[in-house]
Amino acid sequence: MTAQPALSQLQITPASDTDNLRVVVIGGGPVGARAAGALADKGLSVTLLSTETFAPYNRVKLTPLLAGDVQFGQILAPEVSAPRANLDLRTGLRVTQILRDQHLARTADGQLWPYDKLVIATGSRAFIPGIQGRDLPGVFTFRSAEDAQALLARSISARRIVVIGGGLLGLEAARGMQRRQAHVTVVEHEGRVMPRQLDTTAGALLGQKITDLGVDLRTGVAVRAIAGETRVEEVHLADGTVLPCDTVIVCTGVRANTGLARDAKLPFSRGIFVDDTMCTGDPDIYAIGECAEHNGVVHGLVGPGFEQADIAVDNILGGNSSYRGSLPATKLKVIGAEVFSIGPIEQLDDDPSVRSHVWEKNGVYRRIFLRTGKLVGAIAVGGWSQSSRVQSAIAQGAPALPWMVFRFRRDGMLWGDDAEDISAMPDAATVCNCTGVSCGRLRDAMKAGANSVETLGQATGAGNVCGSCLPLLEELVSAGGPPKPVRLYRAILALSGIAAMAAMVLALAPRIPFPQSYDAESLRVWLWQDNITRQWTGFTLLGLTLAAMIIGLRKRLRITDRLGSYDGWRLAHIAIGAATAAALIIHTGLRAGSNLNLMLFMFFALTLVMGAVAGLATGGDHALRARRIGSARKPARRLPTWLHILAVWPLPVLILAHVLASYAF
Ligand SMILES: Cc1cc2nc3c(=O)[nH]c(=O)nc-3n(C[C@H](O)[C@H](O)[C@H](O)COP(=O)(O)OP(=O)(O)OC[C@H]3O[C@@H](n4cnc5c(N)ncnc54)[C@H](O)[C@@H]3O)c2cc1C
Repeated sequence: MTAQPALSQLQITPASDTDNLRVVVIGGGPVGARAAGALADKGLSVTLLSTETFAPYNRVKLTPLLAGDVQFGQILAPEVSAPRANLDLRTGLRVTQILRDQHLARTADGQLWPYDKLVIATGSRAFIPGIQGRDLPGVFTFRSAEDAQALLARSISARRIVVIGGGLLGLEAARGMQRRQAHVTVVEHEGRVMPRQLDTTAGALLGQKITDLGVDLRTGVAVRAIAGETRVEEVHLADGTVLPCDTVIVCTGVRANTGLARDAKLPFSRGIFVDDTMCTGDPDIYAIGECAEHNGVVHGLVGPGFEQADIAVDNILGGNSSYRGSLPATKLKVIGAEVFSIGPIEQLDDDPSVRSHVWEKNGVYRRIFLRTGKLVGAIAVGGWSQSSRVQSAIAQGAPALPWMVFRFRRDGMLWGDDAEDISAMPDAATVCNCTGVSCGRLRDAMKAGANSVETLGQATGAGNVCGSCLPLLEELVSAGGPPKPVRLYRAILALSGIAAMAAMVLALAPRIPFPQSYDAESLRVWLWQDNITRQWTGFTLLGLTLAAMIIGLRKRLRITDRLGSYDGWRLAHIAIGAATAAALIIHTGLRAGSNLNLMLFMFFALTLVMGAVAGLATGGDHALRARRIGSARKPARRLPTWLHILAVWPLPVLILAHVLASYAF
């Protein structure tokens, strides 16, 4: 698409079908680049107009760039890097006006760019509060490649740096500059670092880790002024402290670039208003990324922006996608410390209807937030291998069941055993926060031939933004795709088969009648009319039931973790289950009785039948894995396992009542 010289010379004819649409994207940040690349991939004629003179790049990677870990060439946005005939990339061109009636965008050089659909992805700019001395030479912001370039140049001479703002960006800037051997002080006016993502304890813990790494941290104090004769020399704090310095980096938040929308009379507030299709008030104009406001929320992370870009692209192509909002999720290494935060933590912390549980050990802190039993937020400082799973549970509104909460409070884990293994992650679990790539999508890419972290990244985009999910990708690659069967699956199948037969007898066989006449030699008399034998069989049944329950609980609560493998205990559980079915037949003679006894018998039978079915499903599932013709991603054992567990719950009370009744009468 070429620029037009003047408005009067233009004859704009709207494109008649989607294939011939001309799309102009304003803003070459990560979100604009993603939308432009995706639209060009679909064959549309796309023009990307960007103020920055640099080729579109991954803004998130400015921190490693500042720290000297990567070169600029390594952080270019891959979506628009390759030249394409239908993608016209213009850098160093600011859009100054949108002429909605004529479907034109005007750039600062006076050129006019016709569009059928316009995508505004103008992002944010650094916000500098009205601190005295903010215009002095030596005061920097950290938002763009230009800022990073200026800071890099400055880092050669900078010796003492004050970073104003202890949020995500301030800490990232501090890390970058500290790696350049400067003395760095971070000043945060709230009582803790990362106040939007962390609670007081987590903030304090992260603060301690940051201090241990040699950064001077001042929290709970505001900056009063930046002072110096001709350049920055000091920062004055509200408590009277004076921090000598030669460089100040202001990281006090961002403001959405809404000026174009305002001038074009599009509705806006903190961001440009968009509906669920990412459309602004004008049906031919979309807004995405940090400049967009959806349902009162303006996101400051790249992941939600990518989701919005995908929605807008689909709708421009004639689709019918709806954006339902994004969960704010941060998973990254802040100055070497792993930090995970998901959900609106500040609001959750103050909400009386939200309950929370904490686990803390050896400098690792985790907290989960529950509303009406469902996971709604979580925080971790110091790493949490289950964070992806937590994220997907929160996204799906999954409940945290009582034993999960119990286990969390004890071990800091919501799921037991192999839950940390990426091969056991559900398909829906988000692996890459920035791009929203799920485990299922990665598995599909692996099936299609991607067999390294690089090829997975190329196929799905995962790991290409902040890179914090790269260890998970490595794990997935080394796990080698499909989940492996457990060692003892044949024994599980065989024992479950026996248990199933016993359970079937229990459920379906006719009751064994009492003998018509008393015969002391009769087995039936001995079994069911001799009080002592009845007690023996009854207590054997009770013992077996208790043993099976304790072993079952072991899985949920990870009791006796050190006593043998999980597979062995599972086998023991099934064997005891089969023995319990036999003991129940012997004890009752299949006569269910009435009232309390009938209930007890029914729950016993249901527990045993469902347990046997779950065992068969588990064994079968692993047999399929062994033959590589299936996997346990949506295992058929879930429903019978749950019914098995539910049927167990009333048993202790019913058994107790039965024992008491037997002795009382
Ligand atoms: C150092 C740093 C580290 C970060 N780390 C993370 C992280 O770990 N995880 C995370 O999720 N997020 C992180 N972020 C935030 C993330 O970078 C942003 O959420 C993301 O860049 C937003 O993308 P965007 O395309 O919406 O806006 P932007 O990236 O702001 O891009 C907007 C672009 O539009 C251009 N533009 C503006 N107005 C015009 C105009 N009138 N005409 C033409 N062009 C215009 C701007 O110059 C800019 O290039 C980080 C940000 C920074 C600065």
